[in-house]
Amino acid sequence: MSKHIYLETLGCEKNRVDSEIMLAALKKQDYRLTDQAESAHVIVLNTCAFLTAATEESIDRILDLSDYKTTGQCEKLVVTGCLSQRYQDELLSTIPELDGLLGSSNFDQIPFLISQIYDNPDHPQILINKKPHYTQYEKQEKIQSTPRHFAYLKIAEGCSNMCSFCNIPYLRGRFSSRSISSIVEELQTLIHQGVREINLLSQDTSSYGKDLSEEVDIAALLSAISKIDGNHWIRLFYAYPNTFSEQALEIMANDSRFCRYLDMPFQHINDAVLEKMNRKITKKEIYAKIAQIKKQIPDMALRTTFIVGFPTETEENFEELAAFVAEGHFDHIGVFTYSHENNIPSKKWGDPVPNALKQERKAQLLEIQQNISLQKNKTHIGKTLKVLVDGVSQESDLLLQGRTEYQGANIDGLVYINEGHALPMEFNLVEITEAHPYDLVGRALQQ
Ligand code: SF4
Repeated sequence: MSKHIYLETLGCEKNRVDSEIMLAALKKQDYRLTDQAESAHVIVLNTCAFLTAATEESIDRILDLSDYKTTGQCEKLVVTGCLSQRYQDELLSTIPELDGLLGSSNFDQIPFLISQIYDNPDHPQILINKKPHYTQYEKQEKIQSTPRHFAYLKIAEGCSNMCSFCNIPYLRGRFSSRSISSIVEELQTLIHQGVREINLLSQDTSSYGKDLSEEVDIAALLSAISKIDGNHWIRLFYAYPNTFSEQALEIMANDSRFCRYLDMPFQHINDAVLEKMNRKITKKEIYAKIAQIKKQIPDMALRTTFIVGFPTETEENFEELAAFVAEGHFDHIGVFTYSHENNIPSKKWGDPVPNALKQERKAQLLEIQQNISLQKNKTHIGKTLKVLVDGVSQESDLLLQGRTEYQGANIDGLVYINEGHALPMEFNLVEITEAHPYDLVGRALQQ
């Protein structure tokens, strides 16, 4: 009788793609997939270890799931992803319930690892590459885990930028791009399956192709994507600011299927802090980049990320950042408090900013942004916007919910439809009637 497998994913959407690869590899080997942990013979947890908080969440979840070895059908417990890559020895020495570890690559090898585990029940089986590599992304065999109408597509993995506060290069290895042909093929398959929105992911989307050849870069990829027929949206995430080119923006400007949306993490604005972060960009260059984007695509919704409480951040540095946010360049911001990790270059500066002050600075930036988001949302009142409708809202079954091209899935606000009929999982025209700090309200127009 084939084994029932329960797979759970923690962390970012890039982890979700890795889990989709594992689901497809397991199904191909006739394992039965279940969404009930208690009835699974094998439990696989795909983890995150980017920050201490994520590491703790992953360990807590492993311990929860290990209980099913006594209360459920669970025979084998497997941990995959960044926590295994970062803490292999610590996990094996502290969690005896573990039967196997798979690192942050070779996700398509999960069936092989499970068969090794059953063949060698006396000691845990390990499949961890110290130098992660990403050939499995070329093969693109995945089971989509998102609703039919939107999907995530990884165009590259790893990172070589070496920002001083970040351990991704150690967890995910050096930057490694997929081929344009493999990305285009996967996109065509998704569009053919009725996917309406494809979210392009990597650790650093701007550097796409730099490890392949001179001719291949993000502009070449977007140009190839722009030649694909279909009524769909393409949304870009993690566009490292320094290297996101004018040509790439030009291609986006000439094809309205590229969402007027760009996620571009700046992390800070003060030159001294940016230098210590090893962000390789200056305040002046950040302003120039934003001006270039707004010149080429005036209605581009910008999402960015900031870190507060970096070891060398002074009160003046933070005030400078708060003033920058207050200028209203962004539609959406994410704010992280600096996390003092034992495997990052910036650890040499200690962690002098008290956590309470970090939280205070984070709250201050989000408060400033809340008013800016409201003002930007108000500019949509009276407009008719194209909305990708998810379906009945989680808020109330009297409402439908969806997103405009200015709103990314699972991170930005929503459009609530309180009047008219709209087709779920499809694009619909919606007249915006109300604006709130993060969300919009509107009525569906006759299609
Ligand atoms: S670009 Fe992003 S993933 Fe790469 S090192 Fe910097 S913060 Fe980390």
